[in-house]
Parts: sequence; C-alpha cells; structure tokens
Amino acid sequence: MIFDKDMVLSIYNGLTKKVDSAKKTINKPLTLTEKILYSHLETGFVKEEYERGKSYVNFNPDRVAMQDATAQMALLQFMQAGKQKVAVPSTVHCDHLIQAKTGATEDLKEAETQNNEVYDFLKSVSNKYGIGFWKPGAGIIHQVVLENYAFPGGMMIGTDSHTVNAGGLGMIAIGVGGADAVDVMVGMPWELKFPKLIGIKLTGKLNGWASAKDVILKVAGILTVKGGTGCIVEYFGEGAENISCTGKGTICNMGAEIGATTSIFGYDKKMSEYLKGTEREEIAIEADKIAEYLTGDKEVYENPELHFDQVIEINLSELEPHINGPFTPDKAWKLSEFAKAVKENNYPEKMEVGLIGSCTNSSYEDMTRAASLAKQAIDKNIEVKGQYIVTPGSEQVRYTIERDGLIDIFDKMGGIVVANACGPCIGQWAREGAEKQKPNSIMTSFNRNFVKRNDGNPNTYAFVASPEIVTAFSIAGDLTFNPINDYLTDKNGEKVKLKEPQGLELPIKGFAVEDNGYVAPIKDGSKIEVVVKNDSERLQLLKPFDKWDGNDYKDLKLLIKAKGKCTTDHISMAGPWLRFRGHLDNISNNMLIGAINYFNEKQNSVKNQTNGEFAAVPDVARAYKSAKISSLVIGDENYGEGSSREHAAMEPRHLGVKVVVVRSFARIHETNLKKQGILALTFSKKEDYGKIQENDSFDIEGLTDFSENMPLKMIINHSDGTKDTIVVNHSYNKNQIEWFKNGSALNLIKKRNKN
Ligand code: SF4
Repeated sequence: MIFDKDMVLSIYNGLTKKVDSAKKTINKPLTLTEKILYSHLETGFVKEEYERGKSYVNFNPDRVAMQDATAQMALLQFMQAGKQKVAVPSTVHCDHLIQAKTGATEDLKEAETQNNEVYDFLKSVSNKYGIGFWKPGAGIIHQVVLENYAFPGGMMIGTDSHTVNAGGLGMIAIGVGGADAVDVMVGMPWELKFPKLIGIKLTGKLNGWASAKDVILKVAGILTVKGGTGCIVEYFGEGAENISCTGKGTICNMGAEIGATTSIFGYDKKMSEYLKGTEREEIAIEADKIAEYLTGDKEVYENPELHFDQVIEINLSELEPHINGPFTPDKAWKLSEFAKAVKENNYPEKMEVGLIGSCTNSSYEDMTRAASLAKQAIDKNIEVKGQYIVTPGSEQVRYTIERDGLIDIFDKMGGIVVANACGPCIGQWAREGAEKQKPNSIMTSFNRNFVKRNDGNPNTYAFVASPEIVTAFSIAGDLTFNPINDYLTDKNGEKVKLKEPQGLELPIKGFAVEDNGYVAPIKDGSKIEVVVKNDSERLQLLKPFDKWDGNDYKDLKLLIKAKGKCTTDHISMAGPWLRFRGHLDNISNNMLIGAINYFNEKQNSVKNQTNGEFAAVPDVARAYKSAKISSLVIGDENYGEGSSREHAAMEPRHLGVKVVVVRSFARIHETNLKKQGILALTFSKKEDYGKIQENDSFDIEGLTDFSENMPLKMIINHSDGTKDTIVVNHSYNKNQIEWFKNGSALNLIKKRNKN
C-alpha cells in the first residue's frame, strides 16, 4: 500500500511549474534545496529571491511526523484548535518510551503496561483526527517514515531532531518543536529562516570497510557540532550516486549532529530502487518522469562554489572508516589512528558493549554487513568478547532479517535483539551495573554520544562508528583493535583475521512483514471521545488560556530576574521530567528551576513578595496564582535559546506569568511565548535590566492601543515608593497581536473556525 499517493502525485503535478517560475524570477540555476523550498512557499509562486541566512519565509510542508514523547503536548494543543481533522497527512510513532532490558518481546510487554495510558491517548487522538498511528514495536519514527512516507521533492516537519533522515530519499525534512507541528496540522504556514547552503561533493566509491556512516563521521569532524547551524547540506557528485538510499539516510540523519537544519541528496537510481523495493513503484515512475526537477541543476553541480555558501569535497575511494568520540560526535578519529588515540587519552581499552541499529543505521544493508562479520566470528570459532545488542529500526526490517536468517546469526554470536525502538539510543537502557558509574567504553552505530546519553553513567565513554566497525570491535572486545590489519585468536589458539564486510542494499526476496504495526484512523472520527483520567499524572487535557481582559496590566509581581544564560532547558528541564510531557500542571513543577536568580545567585530560590520568604520558583508562582496575583519574568541576553520545546512557554502561562521582559530573545522562544499569549517584550535600553529590584512590581501601559511597531511603557514600582518608567519594545505583527488579545494562537484559530 502506498500512503497518501494522491497527495504525492498532486505535488509532482505542481512542482515543475513552480520550479520553472522560480528559475525565471531568480534568473539562475537552482540547487535542489532551493527547488524544494521555492515549490513549498505559502505564497505559491516565487515573487523575489530570499536572502540566505536573513529572510524569514513561510512554507507549507506536505506532512508531519511525531514521536510519542513529543506528540503528547502537540496533540493536546491540536485538540484545542477546534479542527475536525489534521490539515496535512500526519503520523504518530510509539518508539521513545520502550526500555531495552532483556529482549524484544519482554521489553515491549513491559512498555505496554507502563505506558498504556499514553499509548491509548495517542491512539484515540490519532483515530479521531485522521492521524496514522504506528503502535509500539512498529519501529523508530525515521526508519518507518523512510520506508513508507518520504518521497523525493517533498517537505515535511517532525517533532524530533532526526526527522532529517528523510533527506536520504530526497526530501527536505526538518525537526521542530510540538508547537510548529500544531501550526502545520491546523493548516497554518510554517516559518523558517531561509537557510545558507553547504554543498558536499562526493567523488569515487566506498569500498572495503568504509560505509556511508564514515562519510558523516568525517563531515562531523570537519564541520564540528556547530558548523551546519542555519544551513542545509546538499550532497552531490558521482560518489553520491554510488551510495544506497538507506546509506544516504544515515548521512542525513547524523547531519543533526553538525547542527544543520537538514541535509539532502538529489533523486537518483538508488532512490528509485529503494522506492520500488519498499512497494512504491508508482511513486518511482512519477519521480523518474520529473527527475531533473528532483535534483540540483547541472550548472550548480559543475560550479558549486558559485551556488553554495561553502563547498567540501570528499573522495569516497580514499575514505577510511572513522570512530567518533567520546562524549561528542565531532571528535573524529581515522580507524588507523584510533588505537594510538585510545592509549594517549587513556580511554578505557576494554570494549564492553557494541550496539548497532537505531534510526540511524538499521537498514537491511547495515544488518547484512554486520551479520557477515558476526558469521565469520561463528565460522572461525572466535570467542566474542564484548556484549552485542541489535536494535532493528522497524518491524519490516526485523521480520525480513529474521526470515533471511540474520537474527539467527546474531543469536549464535551471543547478541541480543531488542525491540524495534529507540531504547539505548535515548537512555532507555536498563544496563546492569550502570549505577556504579564505573569508567568503561562502549561503541554504537547511533548518532549521539553525549555524556550519560546511553546508560546514564557519566563515566561511559561512548564512541560512534558504522555497524560493521561496531561489530568487529564487539568481537575483539578491545578498543585498540584494527580489523583491517590485526589478527584475532580463535578458541584453538590459532590466529585468524576478519574479512571485509559484505552486504545487500535490498533483500533478494523483497521485504516482508506480518504486522507492520500501522493502525489507520477511521474515516469519521467525530464521535470518538478522547478519554484522559482526571487523576492521571502523565496526561492532562488542556484548558484554553484566558483572553486578555482589555486593560493595561497593573501590579505584576516580579517572579524572577534571571541572570545570564537561560535556555529552554533552564526554563523547562528534560531528564526525569520527560514523563510529564503530556501533563502541563505536573511538568510546570520544573518551571525555571534551572535559572539563576540575579539577587542571590541561586537556582530555584526566589522571594515571595507576599510573605518575604524564599521558595522554589514554581511554588512562588503557584502562591501568586492562587492569590490572584499575576507575575512577570525578567531575562538577560538570548533568553530561551536551545530547543524549541513549547513547554518553556506554556508553563509560565499556566502558572500566571503575564509578561517576560528580556535584553534579547532567542527567536523561536519569543514566538512560542507569543503563541501562548504571554507578552514578550525587550528593554529598549539594555541597561534598564539593571533597574529591576527584588521587591518590584510592574505596570504595562499602552496595551489598549497595542499595535505594530509601537513600543509599550513599563512602570517599575520600587518598594521604597519610587518609580522608573521605561520603554519596552515588541516585535508583534497584526496577527500576533490577535494571538495576545485572544489569549493564545490556538484560541484565535478556534474562534476563526467557529465563524
Ligand atoms: S533512535 Fe535515537 S536518534 Fe533515532 S529517534 Fe530514537 S532517540 Fe532519536
């Protein structure tokens, strides 16, 4: 079955005209990125050339994907919009909440019991609003999207940073926060700063031990974790055409680790083969017809320096396998230099666990190449020294590799296959002994290796490599091993060597699956009632925020004057709070607990002006709220930088904060505050930040004439009876002022739906 085939075909119908028109208007050849962006403009056709890295542009993405942790708040908000159905095809994937412990079957059962309530909620909301639901065990969001939904020339957003994986099938796919997903699902345009473009020219052909993973491991070493910020990375050249479609997915997936907005490859034979191999031949046929529109123009790739902001060239024929880490994915070591690095840096030499799979590297090709090494270990009678864990990316891959005997090989080698889910990649790994915090080394084919990411142990040195390199190191159990040159000893004491890995891009007998885990929504979901228990600690239905009462704000109490860096993590921490992502009141207990109080330099200790006592920020906010006192937050520079999580704006709104005034905002957080109905203001003179004292209260004047480009006035009432009157700026446009007046963007959408 081809999902949303008509939608894809209708996009292809319009795409050629839009691209032709863009070329005419801009009068130059186009990169693939530009073709896709210009054919997804809210305005339909291009009216002007946008300035890269400067212009904010509204787009209409084709689809939305959500994983279970982030989908909860996104859908709770969507339910408020008063829509009958989602405006674009959307899907929910249950993958993040499954813990890897003993093996797939038991772990899945356990997750279903523990998260039953969340799964039921996601399933019934999906059914009601026409959203495709992929149940626990169906697979990891990005692998499932690649196998079923991604298509060349498309544009999607997803509530997960590795949404970018779909670039391997020629799609502009971008990770966003839940609030952005809500915008697209309700039919609003989605805004993005027009990206800068990095072109990566690939020449030659991968060979021997090198694989697609090594391309991105090398790129991460070149660009570092920040080098791709604000950029889309476009790969091209004959080398690109030699890489399998899933290999391209791996490269794009880990592009998130260089901070890139997304990465993409142009449509080619490998993508066509993958579409056919995953039963989407009709899409491949249509894509073939407009192939030149689904890749960058020839002139661009012939003279990339003229069309990209930065160009990097990599010769795949000379590319060595890489191992990156520990603790950061951009610390890139060539395999030939790794043993020396291990010794010089005193990394624990024993390789304790190898983990392959995840959304990054769990294709049929990855599994066959890894299994070819596992089989050698069995056939050559080599004792496998490390523990070995396999995470298939989807039930389709798992079922197919079981049918083709690969799971049997992993079993015989001593490996365990855990559920088709994120598991150890996101810390959902009940690793025995991790709590002892012993220094140790592991190697994974995942994408991230920050401290504690996999097992919560700050002393686990996690290295990232291809599945085949991870497998070889798991067999050796030694970080100083080099599978290309070194011998191992078999159980009889004989010296043996591993041969180069061999694999198949696609299964000879085709993919197979008994139950892919997909649950289609019913046609008319209007009668479905979404039930959330009143006493649930994980889920809470949202109530619309109050409308503005039409008056200037008076006597707002200072909640906190935050000092220095205050990211969305300081405002709404992650970690153990993840389990409350669907319960606004419970998660609000983490509001601003990471911010530093300017007056005592402490975290989570602020003065309650009503009794003079110091207490936790959420407690003081709740005390004010119950006394019907509204509050105000003061922030420093770049307030709200970091992830785009909407909880950082919803929590203050829920706990009675009416205004946030800062020296400067991170743009996405500023928009999120506006969307939730909080007045987001900046000091017109940055030094006015210094005028704020601990016992101040505030009035905001000018709201009754709130209009674009008209600053507001803030009266700072000091406890000694003196006042300061200062000018505060805002960046609200007409529509955003309506968000404020209606109490939130969702309230406005709901109102418009009714009219
Ligand atoms: S497997 Fe890892 S990187 Fe991929 S979606 Fe899950 S947590 Fe994110």
